Amino acid sequence: MAFLPSPPMAVAFRLKIGILLGLLFGQAQSARLYTEEDPVVILSSDSLKQSVFNSSSAWLLQFYSSWCGHCIQYSATWKALAGDVKDWAQAIRIGVLDCAHEKNFDICKEFGIHFYPTFRYIKAHDTTNDYGKTYHGADRELQTVRQLMVNFLQNHTKQDWPVGCPPLDPARSEDILSLMGKKTEFYTAVIVEDKDSYIGREVILDLLPYEGLAVKRTLSSDKLLMEELGITSVPSVYLFHPNGTHTIMNVQKRLRFFFSSFLKLLPGVHRKQSTSSLQRPQPGNNGQGTQVEWKVFEKSKVYMADLESGLHYLLRVELATHKTLEGEELKTFKDFVTVVAKLFPGRQSVVKLLETLLEWLVSLPLEKIPYDAILDLVNNKMRISGLYLSEQVQWVGCQGSSVALRGYPCSLWTLFHVLTVQAASRPDALANTGFEDDPLAVLQTMRRYIGTFFGCQECGKHFEEMAQESVNQVKTVDEAVLWLWRKHNQVNARLAGSMSEDPMFPKTQWPTPDLCPTCHEEQEGLHVWNEQMVLAFLKQHYGASNISLKYSSNSQPEPGPPAPDKPKAITKPNNGHLNQNLKPSPDSIPKHQKRTEISGAGEKLTGVQIEARPGMTFLGLGFSSLDMSLCVLLYTLSCVFLMFMFFFFRSKRWKARNYRPYV
Ligand SMILES: Cc1cc2nc3c(=O)[nH]c(=O)nc-3n(C[C@H](O)[C@H](O)[C@H](O)COP(=O)(O)OP(=O)(O)OC[C@H]3O[C@@H](n4cnc5c(N)ncnc54)[C@H](O)[C@@H]3O)c2cc1C
Repeated sequence: MAFLPSPPMAVAFRLKIGILLGLLFGQAQSARLYTEEDPVVILSSDSLKQSVFNSSSAWLLQFYSSWCGHCIQYSATWKALAGDVKDWAQAIRIGVLDCAHEKNFDICKEFGIHFYPTFRYIKAHDTTNDYGKTYHGADRELQTVRQLMVNFLQNHTKQDWPVGCPPLDPARSEDILSLMGKKTEFYTAVIVEDKDSYIGREVILDLLPYEGLAVKRTLSSDKLLMEELGITSVPSVYLFHPNGTHTIMNVQKRLRFFFSSFLKLLPGVHRKQSTSSLQRPQPGNNGQGTQVEWKVFEKSKVYMADLESGLHYLLRVELATHKTLEGEELKTFKDFVTVVAKLFPGRQSVVKLLETLLEWLVSLPLEKIPYDAILDLVNNKMRISGLYLSEQVQWVGCQGSSVALRGYPCSLWTLFHVLTVQAASRPDALANTGFEDDPLAVLQTMRRYIGTFFGCQECGKHFEEMAQESVNQVKTVDEAVLWLWRKHNQVNARLAGSMSEDPMFPKTQWPTPDLCPTCHEEQEGLHVWNEQMVLAFLKQHYGASNISLKYSSNSQPEPGPPAPDKPKAITKPNNGHLNQNLKPSPDSIPKHQKRTEISGAGEKLTGVQIEARPGMTFLGLGFSSLDMSLCVLLYTLSCVFLMFMFFFFRSKRWKARNYRPYV
């Protein structure tokens, strides 16, 4: 739509109608079109001038009216554009102002806004108060507007150039050739492209918030340079490494998203952080001066050590903040244990522990369970052989550059992705649990776990909002896998550049092109996901066969009681249940429930006799030393008895054979 001048009368009339309608509907709708969650700056009469005039960056503003149907329809494109160029903010920012809001009537009049939407460009450092330049083009497609933003930036002079924006013009070939063999502190990426291509400039702007890398562009018309660099097709990226080596970058698809993603993922390249986060410890330092050994890992793998460490933290630390579980909390925990016990593709000792915990929770007719009782079971105080969850925390794929980063929340995401994939690949796994045929089983269990137990309450609130919005649209187990992936990416987008982002592991839209090139496509200049490919990738990545046991703890205690010197090490200040079996501590159970609880299996595990001798495993069952002694005794007695019987009958037969009746 072009913004053509209309006769003044008509303009005045439309404006009046607009204002009238705005008064009627604007207030109600203004909050709806753009919210603080969107990547746009929401401006008003109070903030507009002070934000856009004399700003260090340029601005692209949309003056809209919340009652205008076209503005409502266009808001999705505007949000997508703002999300797409979020990283360009140091050079150019995107703002919106609702002219239907009573408060903004005067400012819209002052800016001469007659039609909605109106796009205005305001140059950086603009002090002229000329209210910017209106875009009159008919094409308002995302790619067109984005390219116009680039053109607009290039219209700045040297004097008013946005402070954080690097040069966008092609670099001189001598400057590029001078980099050959030169050692520097950062990478230099040179994008070689045709004259009309925007990829180079867009990638330069995409990498604005990143450090450890400079991006330049040059044109394919520079034949000498092309020859020197050995480039035969464009667009291409030529990379100069800090150590002086240089090479053409091998990228599967020659698209802006691929180029930007590869550059963002170069080792040592990370998002610029605030001063405090820049002072974060380096890998291997846990922030308290203690060195933690860095574990080399492959990002294309999932690590059992992360999953088990996450379960350990969840069961022994996070849950411990709830002294007793009852009502909805208890139900949430039971459902969580059900889903994990049935779907977790873990090691036998962990799965057996989870199954035992589940059996115990299901069979226990208690309405209230003390956490300590659960802990006793998790710690296998009853010494059942083959049940074990390590207490050693080993973050591998989830290790962070400091102890404060990544770790547990990373493992929780990983666990739930694994569970959604398991639910999709093993349709019968949840049979007879009450969850059979429920495609939402894992997601709803996760939602309730996060809302009830996850230590980060704000995270839980955000996750609940996302779930409320769309989880009910999930109709199949495959959709559940994709829903969680989409929501996780939504969280990644929100947290990119935040304090919780580990500079060594920038929050990107995942899977990155290096992990799954076929997951990414481009449509009309906008990056799009090929969701079929994403689903296939998620199933492979989070599938049981991709879980590596590298770094997983192998130290499993022998069944039977702890060695005489061990109890002290196991005893924790808040753990008063060292010598108890899987039953909840009698002291911690309400009196009226004690009888029910104490009856049942397990009594034989208590008692002093057990302590002296080690036990053994047979057919997956745990035998104590007492059991073993009794077995040997019984065996010996049986032998003696059998021998006795043998000789007894043999002597009888002998007598019978040699008996000669005297006739
Ligand atoms: C439910 C939930 C909600 C959270 N909400 C917040 C919040 O509101 N604010 C906050 O500050 N922190 C929040 N966190 C923590 C935050 O999301 C990260 O977990 C944390 O910052 C650690 O980040 P990370 O770099 O280890 O990557 P994580 O985001 O934890 O991801 C872990 C691993 O999963 C893989 N991955 C990444 N994206 C995807 C995807 N889309 N699909 C599948 N796999 C993927 C990658 O291999 C990545 O290394 C939340 C965590 C959870 C579990």
